[in-house]
Amino acid sequence: MFDYPEKIQLAQLSTPLQPLDRISNELGGPRIWFKRDDLTGSHLSGNKVRKLEFILARAKSLGADTLITCGGTQSNHCRATAFVAAQLGMKCHLILRQDPSEGDSPAVDDGNLLLDALAGASTEIFPAKGFASQLRKRMQAAKERYAAAGHTPYLIPVGASDGVGIWGYIAAAQELKNDFESHQIAPEYIVCASGSGGTQAGLTVGAKHLQLGADVLGFAVCDNADYFHAKVRSDIAAWRREYSAQAEAGPYITHVNDQYIGQGYAQASDEVLALIAWVAKTEGVLLDPVYTGKAFYGLVQEIKNGVFSNQRDLVFVHTGGIFGVFPWRQRFSSVLAQKNTRIN
Ligand SMILES: *Cc1c(COP(=O)(O)O)cnc(C)c1O
Repeated sequence: MFDYPEKIQLAQLSTPLQPLDRISNELGGPRIWFKRDDLTGSHLSGNKVRKLEFILARAKSLGADTLITCGGTQSNHCRATAFVAAQLGMKCHLILRQDPSEGDSPAVDDGNLLLDALAGASTEIFPAKGFASQLRKRMQAAKERYAAAGHTPYLIPVGASDGVGIWGYIAAAQELKNDFESHQIAPEYIVCASGSGGTQAGLTVGAKHLQLGADVLGFAVCDNADYFHAKVRSDIAAWRREYSAQAEAGPYITHVNDQYIGQGYAQASDEVLALIAWVAKTEGVLLDPVYTGKAFYGLVQEIKNGVFSNQRDLVFVHTGGIFGVFPWRQRFSSVLAQKNTRIN
């Protein structure tokens, strides 16, 4: 169906599709399956490496020797990019926004930020306030600095979500199609956390043209539904402009639930943290507070509300985030302590 562009093999694929029977039974809703994209690698764990496989092939073809990208201080995307750069013998520069969970104190070398440093990435950390409006200028400035020093830099947008990166999740939709056939299931929804929209965009394109028979539903973790409808469509439009021969135009149906963002990006409630602990002990699978835990919390509430009651199977893409758990150690300790008090 698709004429895939070149990619550099970086991820461990394909990832398992696995039913969570104990959780599904406790909820009394559809059977929930996890697409285990947390298993795409150890330090490359998560969804970003699928997109980076295609982006790196492009960057290399342009002679790039330096990757410049951006995200929050606990960005999984930045950590994956830092390790990909190291694996390919490239330099990496990260422009980071201080996560709100860190307040005004300097970002600590923990979780993903620690790994960025170990992978040899250079970092600049800026306050959250004004970050978005300054980003383009700062990315450009970094590019010029590296170029002036004789390097060939390549800019990767936030979350590796662009017309090239979404190939990663078009290919993932092909994997899901094979998974559905081998497990003989026909889910109506594929659910994911949406942060920069590329995962949802790729899955949306793949699900439509590969005729998965499922719609893609993104749970927003930061911006509202309007933002994600537009972002998913603009990533798809960018993809169509570059690879115009690929497929006839939409309509692409996009579904976004923005009811579970809570206080904002990288801010998770005690309920989300308690859900992460529940999934960990019930199924032995670890979600993260910023993306997958928040999205799965939303999905569980919707299941409890009966939204999916007429469905047999539901797929949740576990997009990774494991290293983002550690900076939350104090919050997790207090949530676990509250629970223990209640049980005793
Ligand atoms: C980046 C990320 C997401 C969101 O994916 P997007 O393609 O940016 O929308 C979800 N989960 C985890 C763990 C991530 O790191």
